[in-house]
Amino acid sequence: MGSRVERQPRRPDFVSLAALMSRELKSEKMENPSVRYGSAAQSRKGEDYFLMKTDCQRILGNPSSSFSVFGIFDGHNGDAAAIYSRDNLLNHVLDAIPHGLKRDEWLQALPRALVAGFVKTDKQFQSKGLTSGTTATFVIVDKWTVTVASVGDSRCIIDTPDGVVSVLTVDHRLDDNSEERERVTASGGEVGRLNVVGGPEIGPLRCWPGGLCLSRSIGDMDVGEFIVPVPHVKQVKLSDGGGRLIIASDGIWDSLSSEIAAESCRGLPSELAARQVVKEALRTRGLKDDTTCIVVDIVPPDNSLPPPSPPRKTQTKLQSLLFRTKFCGGSASKLSKKLSPLCIVEELFEEGSAFLEERLGTGETCGSSTSGLFTCAVCQVDLAASEGSISVHAGYIFSTSSKPWQGPFLCVGCRDKKDAMEGKRPSGIRVI
Ligand SMILES: [Zn+2]
Repeated sequence: MGSRVERQPRRPDFVSLAALMSRELKSEKMENPSVRYGSAAQSRKGEDYFLMKTDCQRILGNPSSSFSVFGIFDGHNGDAAAIYSRDNLLNHVLDAIPHGLKRDEWLQALPRALVAGFVKTDKQFQSKGLTSGTTATFVIVDKWTVTVASVGDSRCIIDTPDGVVSVLTVDHRLDDNSEERERVTASGGEVGRLNVVGGPEIGPLRCWPGGLCLSRSIGDMDVGEFIVPVPHVKQVKLSDGGGRLIIASDGIWDSLSSEIAAESCRGLPSELAARQVVKEALRTRGLKDDTTCIVVDIVPPDNSLPPPSPPRKTQTKLQSLLFRTKFCGGSASKLSKKLSPLCIVEELFEEGSAFLEERLGTGETCGSSTSGLFTCAVCQVDLAASEGSISVHAGYIFSTSSKPWQGPFLCVGCRDKKDAMEGKRPSGIRVI
């Protein structure tokens, strides 16, 4: 192709390099959405914390590689785990992404890095010996691509300009999630309601020991290790119509359905929208719990208005089907372009398994550090030859394609933790 262009006679009206660069920059700017955000909170116990960070850079010093991070951490039994996660989770996730990746590769590496970052944060917090635990709903917005990782029940929803509302998280509540109940029971936990002696069973389903009604969280060293920190991860690409994310703690979702929350704030700018959602939740149910809401608008270029306020639409079966099948590849991509006026969200990735061997992959390249040593896929420590390394697949009876000597590898401490999460050891914590 290049040689054919060179053979063509130079046209007299050629465009200067400076003009080309300026056009390129302008077009890049035109193609990228802007991110607007706001938050609101009403506190009852003081255990909800949140993070809003819009100045992150994939390549340090390069503003065109910028991305934004939003997170909600709803603590329980104290606020230490929520504060620790707010302050450390992002770094732990970024540390798990190999250096020098192009944008597409970086986005593809994110789901696995999120799993590693969540587990590392849990392990490091537990090693402090502090009680308390937290939900974590962690959202990375990179241009049109949104990646959401979550443990617990702080939900993230997306509202597209055509009024279709979709949930990007899965609630890890024992009451709502039979798959998680089975996993916890199989790993050695007991699931049941509070039972006052001689009286009826009351309240939500809880896991014993500990009495937590969540099946996944960060922290919680005083409950069984089968309450795991492995997040559900979903990655989607928005159409050029953009969309609105609503991320909130259960203080909102115990009062409002996803549709009502989205509908209650349509047409308002993000800051006012967040306040409106909190107000609506309090109006419905009163201040029963910490109630925190972040609204993030991903706004197409040259669109100074907040998302329009269309008549209410629930997600139809067809739209639901389209949302689910967008990740299928070639033909689905063509479909996506054809249907972009409908603002359909393209699903790039979704995985919710609680098992590390299914989440850390079989990547031949992962686990090898620049120093030539292997690194632990979770905590990123170099695995000294004397300590040895253990494949994430070792002893996994369901593994058919992977071999125990293949990476990624875990350090001894992370391997202990993995076994404890699967009920094979009483605890993954080693007190040194
Ligand atoms: Zn490790």
